[in-house]
Amino acid sequence: MTRGPEPIDDVIRAAGLRRTTPRALVLHTLRSTRGHLTASEIFEQIEDDRPAEPIAVSTVYRALEALEAKGVVSALRSRSGETRYEWSPERPAHHHLICGACGAVVELDLDSVEQLAREIESRTGFQPDIRHLAIDGICEQCRGSSDSAVSGASATPPAR
Ligand SMILES: [Zn+2]
Ligand SMILES: [Zn+2]
Repeated sequence: MTRGPEPIDDVIRAAGLRRTTPRALVLHTLRSTRGHLTASEIFEQIEDDRPAEPIAVSTVYRALEALEAKGVVSALRSRSGETRYEWSPERPAHHHLICGACGAVVELDLDSVEQLAREIESRTGFQPDIRHLAIDGICEQCRGSSDSAVSGASATPPAR
């Protein structure tokens, strides 16, 4: 029916998984947003898109677990303990800057970090594995809203 990107069902099967509705919905949400979403954000989006066919949050978690195990989605765990997921096929590799105050994820291209990796290697002989890097900090917006953003930051997650 739809043309263009590989059908979600094919992606699921190619990963060696059984096609279930929650898996398909989770993948569809991650692919269409191209974002870094928490399980509850994915759940909310699915609820908005398909109010007639409610699914449970726990189902979303299980679907994410299965998809992550097969490498179809990648998980990004921040220092605050929050896990965000993203669609991994067809996406250029990138690194992540994670705001400890608002949870925003800023994507960083590989070049800037590769330079750092080369420098580390030449100075220490240690070869860093930088394929999936997450750097914690404070985003531009949170820094702008208060000069004492670092000390005043409350990492309160949105109400579930
Ligand atoms: Zn990412
Ligand atoms: Zn922020």
